[in-house]
Amino acid sequence: MKFATKAIHAGVEPDPTTGAIMTPIYQTSTYVQESPGKHKGYEYSRTHNPTRTALQNALAALENGKHGICYASGLAATDAVLKMYRPGDEIIATSDIYGGTYRIMKRIFEPFGLIFKFVDMSEASEIRRLITNKTKMVWLETPTNPLLKIIDIKEITGICRELGVHTVVDNTFASPYLQNPLDLGADIVMHSVTKYLGGHSDTVMGALITSDDELAKQLAFIQNASGAVPGPQDCFLVLRGIKTLHIRMQRHCENASKVATWLNNHPKVGKVYYPGLPDHPGHDLAKKQMRDFGGMLSFELKGDIYEEAVRTMERLEIFSLGESLGGVESLCTHPASMTHASIPREERQKVGLKDTLIRLSVGIEDVDDLIADLQQAIEGD
Ligand SMILES: *Cc1c(COP(=O)(O)O)cnc(C)c1O
Repeated sequence: MKFATKAIHAGVEPDPTTGAIMTPIYQTSTYVQESPGKHKGYEYSRTHNPTRTALQNALAALENGKHGICYASGLAATDAVLKMYRPGDEIIATSDIYGGTYRIMKRIFEPFGLIFKFVDMSEASEIRRLITNKTKMVWLETPTNPLLKIIDIKEITGICRELGVHTVVDNTFASPYLQNPLDLGADIVMHSVTKYLGGHSDTVMGALITSDDELAKQLAFIQNASGAVPGPQDCFLVLRGIKTLHIRMQRHCENASKVATWLNNHPKVGKVYYPGLPDHPGHDLAKKQMRDFGGMLSFELKGDIYEEAVRTMERLEIFSLGESLGGVESLCTHPASMTHASIPREERQKVGLKDTLIRLSVGIEDVDDLIADLQQAIEGD
């Protein structure tokens, strides 16, 4: 089945009791049993809930995986992955990573004895040199946040598979419409469903997708045993959101590409980070690995003056200043003080994340209005 058809139909069956075409919000904590242990597959909503089951199946289908497992947030999904490992196990992660992922690794799991190494994976072969006999997993994010570097998923998963190391790909920035890491050899795909999958800035949720039965079993065990599950209303909202994922992504990509080109030609703008620009170092790889270049981009103003970057962000009107991304509305983020504030400044500078960097989540409004908004904000009065 092609992507658009799956986005609308996967996981969703007419409701068995009424025929309702939309999966109802099963707002219930428990399920009545006929006799002890004799039930219809549902016992307690932390373990299973029909609205969540429909969503998990839909997400698995969109990522070409067998199993989908949803969590209360993207970070709860990451937490579940990390709980599969034990003290002394080593994990290698992308250096240019989502701030909260860095924080859960360094501040929650490192004190419990997991060992983390953060490396630039743009040169995929580097990973072979870093893997030791203690390495159990490689965590990667591509395009990276907020510098939009592109990492070769296939090359890294190839090396890891050969050495018996798991690979997990945070696919939040691309969404399953643009990139399917399981097809490129990854063991687990992670999503902050909060972003493009939900798509309407109204839900916080996370998901893991895998085709490996053993990993799925462990992750579903952690989902139930640790209990960070999403509620049925949130699952319903995401089921509704993903029905338009393909259409939204097409417009996100189209708008972002126009905005990036416009910024790139503006005399006051310095570097523009967007994999769709032909001079982006990851352009060819992105073309190969992704269906299009996505809705996220970052840029700096010439001169790198902090106050000027701040004034530009304050002047934006259609782009709302705030954390998050992937909603239908355009957002502007200051990574240094928002999404990446939990990474020490020194570490940020090392990976090239300047305090003057501005990140845009380009929405699906009319692109002429978006460009006019950027123009008035950059040119000032
Ligand atoms: C937002 C985000 C997360 C964390 O997800 P939450 O739903 O906010 O917990 C992880 N990775 C990336 C790339 C993100 O953008």
